[in-house]
Amino acid sequence: MKISEIFYSIQGEGPCAGIPTVFVRTFGCNLRCLWCDTKYAVVGEISDTAYKVMTEEEIIEEIQKHPQTNHVCITGGEPLIQDLSRLVEMLVKSKYFVYIETNGTIQPTIRFAGDNIRSVNYVISPKQFDKPAISVIGIMAYKFVYDGTNAKTIHDYIARNGLEKPLCGLMPLTQDDEHKDRIVEQMCIDECLRAGLRFMSRLHKIYDRK
Ligand code: SF4
Repeated sequence: MKISEIFYSIQGEGPCAGIPTVFVRTFGCNLRCLWCDTKYAVVGEISDTAYKVMTEEEIIEEIQKHPQTNHVCITGGEPLIQDLSRLVEMLVKSKYFVYIETNGTIQPTIRFAGDNIRSVNYVISPKQFDKPAISVIGIMAYKFVYDGTNAKTIHDYIARNGLEKPLCGLMPLTQDDEHKDRIVEQMCIDECLRAGLRFMSRLHKIYDRK
């Protein structure tokens, strides 16, 4: 598998915010969002060779260097452009709580036997609002990036796809401009209050941690 990095930190955003987590950042993405904050993990944006090819066993060996937690977040880039089945199955069998952060444009094809399927979870951050939402078991949350102007687009997407409102949250766009970021953050809080949606902060930006 092409891996950009594996590291241990506090999850900064989404439904597991605050939980010590091992992050497996896969390399490559099928999209090119202008404001992407992980361009180093996106093919062609910075380098075509900014990854390490690792076997599932090697990835798990890295994860096991952090026995403080059983939470593993597979993120990217876009993890679902690679076949994650074997890695996820091995992790679940080893009693890890695994979730996949995805941009919601690729229908997952992770397949393995029995009840283990219940242990795979998804945090979806939709990026293509003109396409239908993917259908998958185990959705923990929809994390919408709010930029101060796209509330209607997000609300229309939620309604059109019949998404469960308690699973949906808005996360303010950050652009490393403290003044602008504060304004968008306040607008995001106001929009969450107005629409009754969860506000999703970005702890790692606030506390300047990876
Ligand atoms: S989908 Fe995510 S990783 Fe891919 S370009 Fe957009 S923000 Fe970056």
